[in-house]
Amino acid sequence: MSTTIAAIATPQGAGGIGIVRISGPKSQEVADRIFRSPGNRRIRDTAGYQALYGHIYEGDTLVDEAIALVFRAPRSYTGEDVVELSCHGGMYVLGRVLSAALSAGAVAAAPGEFTKRAFLNGKLSLTQAESVMDIIGAQGRQAATAALAAREGVLGRRIQDVTDSLVELAAHLSAYIDYPEDDIPELQEVQLVGSLSDAHRRLDDLLATYDAGKILREGVDTVIVGRPNVGKSTLMNVLSGVERSIVTHIPGTTRDVVEETVRLGDVVLRLADTAGLHETDDPVEAIGVEKARGRLETAGLVLAVFDASQNLEEEDRCLLKKLDGRPAVAVINKTDLTPCIDEAFVRRHVPYVVTISAKQEMGMEQLREAVCDVLGAGSWDPSAGMLANERQRDCVRRAGEAVQEALDTTQMGMTYDAVSVSVEGAIDALLELTGERATEAVVDQVFARFCVGK
Ligand code: GDP
Ligand code: ZN
Repeated sequence: MSTTIAAIATPQGAGGIGIVRISGPKSQEVADRIFRSPGNRRIRDTAGYQALYGHIYEGDTLVDEAIALVFRAPRSYTGEDVVELSCHGGMYVLGRVLSAALSAGAVAAAPGEFTKRAFLNGKLSLTQAESVMDIIGAQGRQAATAALAAREGVLGRRIQDVTDSLVELAAHLSAYIDYPEDDIPELQEVQLVGSLSDAHRRLDDLLATYDAGKILREGVDTVIVGRPNVGKSTLMNVLSGVERSIVTHIPGTTRDVVEETVRLGDVVLRLADTAGLHETDDPVEAIGVEKARGRLETAGLVLAVFDASQNLEEEDRCLLKKLDGRPAVAVINKTDLTPCIDEAFVRRHVPYVVTISAKQEMGMEQLREAVCDVLGAGSWDPSAGMLANERQRDCVRRAGEAVQEALDTTQMGMTYDAVSVSVEGAIDALLELTGERATEAVVDQVFARFCVGK
């Protein structure tokens, strides 16, 4: 890896400071060609972690005033010599500083190339590299905590623990297979099954963090359903704090699916208000109803709204039946009016029921708690690390399947050879997860998600 790369590392747009990052064996040389400090101090003569004040020139033309931060290999983000030029944060100026660096011998960095170099130089594991993206993209406290835990190696240690125990097992198995006549104590089947089951359980625990992590990163796909006029749009407006949906007395005025992202405690809901799940002759409304039906089946959370002041209608009962086994909260609205609804009937179908008045914004805290309960958010522990993407989940799933295979093989009384092959398969999947044994294609795919400058 002999090239020296450069890119603008701060976001597109205007800011107080913008940074051009240069990394590679010639980064100091490149920087010295475009950077002049008042006392003619050269970047290559400075110790690592020093900052120099000066000016950037392209040829003899002054481009900007800048601070050069010098990092020496291996003590830098990429593990290479790095110079960061902190300039004024305008896109035009930064573009010129970058082009000066490119003219002075650097090449334009590819997307994610700084982090990829950090990975290839052993500064980061693959899961840590992925966490860099997740820290940058985090939209809330828990998502940031999970990403930071991965960056700090908490997730990596959980994976490492399982890998270590499997490697130990594999070593024991192969010693026994290779030197059966020596005095290597035979593994008792109970021991073998015990270790494998333990590994399997820990992999399962890891897998379970994926769904929660996804909700924290992306929010939960939520649909608000209920027959016309029960207060769906009003509820949506309360949750989002904006008058987005049209609220009227005439049933069926919410013609299409309106979407909104709202935060309810620690959980982000991607909300859709719908035209209600009722039969209609109006073709425009019918489209909304169709969409609502589709979303009811796939949504990660259903808020089913009912009118407390009215008897349950056939349509309500129909909806309640559809909610069996779905992640749903029954929201009994309009409790400011005289109650009439058969609440017990609702509770028989949906375990999570809250009574609210959307109009008076009452009961929102209970709604928040019910949503957390349905999603199981109480048991989430982002600081213990969570699987952050499908690649990670896929690796853990494959490892789990291989361990299961090893368990089955053991219990069927097969030879240790067969067990050993499965255990090796599980180890492979885990090493692919951390990147210790990932193919170039896998690594490339991970960094393809990054953008230039990271
Ligand atoms: P949607 O058709 O389900 O979207 O229902 P809307 O949100 O459009 O509300 C229908 C009517 O019910 C409107 O006149 C609202 O003001 C009224 N409404 C909504 N929530 C409440 C509530 O909690 N109490 C009372 N009294 N009226 C409500
Ligand atoms: Zn509506």
